Formats: sequence, structure tokens, C-alpha cells
Amino acid sequence: MKILYVPNPILRQKALRIKSVKDEDLKVAKQMMDTMIYAAGAGLAANQVGILKQIVTVNIIDKEKKLIKKYALFNPKILSYSKNTVLMEEGCLSLPEQFAEIERPEGIKIEYINEKNKLISKNISGYEARVLQHEIDHLSGKLFVDYLSSLKRNFLIKKVKKVIKNRENK
Ligand SMILES: [Zn+2]
Repeated sequence: MKILYVPNPILRQKALRIKSVKDEDLKVAKQMMDTMIYAAGAGLAANQVGILKQIVTVNIIDKEKKLIKKYALFNPKILSYSKNTVLMEEGCLSLPEQFAEIERPEGIKIEYINEKNKLISKNISGYEARVLQHEIDHLSGKLFVDYLSSLKRNFLIKKVKKVIKNRENK
């Protein structure tokens, strides 16, 4: 799968809910997982590979607990947010080589359907909550740079164009 970069309009569209997880959705999730891991990303939303379905994959390395959380979420939805917020640096595979500190709630309660069509709801905090908030934003056409001033946002988007151009010339 090919990852789309800003300002591709698909990144600004809303992904549609899935009625139930079918084989074709599992296939998309599997390909997204491979694409994400190859690009060394911690998360990927289907919009980023040009598919407008509510599918997210994550690959979170928990250094403290020494485990890797690798899973797919279908129709993920944030039910509630913690009151406390944290500042964390974010990047995005659709904005290569660009990073910015973003303030978001530290914890979330989410609901999603897993690969076996089971409805899951759980509380998540820390880095995993950060990745999921970022990816779930993608499904509604939102990017992390939207939390920045328009000046800073446009500056980062402009830099992406340069990065892409340089990569093509290599
Ligand atoms: Zn992203």
C-alpha cells in the first residue's frame, strides 16, 4: 500500500463505519499493518492509504513492560477523555519528517470492534492513548497539525512538499 501525503484531499475526508468486519476488511487491516511496520509507524488509519473505512492499526512498543501491542481497530470511537492533559511530540506518516508538541488528554475510554467482530471497550492511558487519539482523528479527516496555529501548520505542510520532492530526486 502507498501512504498518502498532505495535501492529498483523501486525508481530509471522513471514513465510513463498517457494518461488520468481513474478510475484505481483515485483508485491508493486514496490509495496513505491513505498510505501517515497513514505514516504522506506531499507527495508521485507512484514510492514509486511500481507503475511506473506519480501520486503524497500531504497533505500540511498551519499553517499560517490554511488550509490543499490535492490533487492528474497526469503528473506533472515543467515549470519554481524562481531565488531565499532557504535552507530547507527534509525527505522522502522512507528514514525513515533521514533528510538533501537541497537548491532548492523558487518558481515554474507547470502544471498537476487533477482528473477531467483538465489541471492546477499555480505558487506555499514556503513549497508547496518544497514538489512538491521533489515528482516530484521521478517520474524521483531522491531522495533528490542526492543533497548531495556521502559520505553523502551513509551514509544516510546505516542508512536507520539499521532503517529497527531495525523495523523488534520489
Ligand atoms: Zn497520522
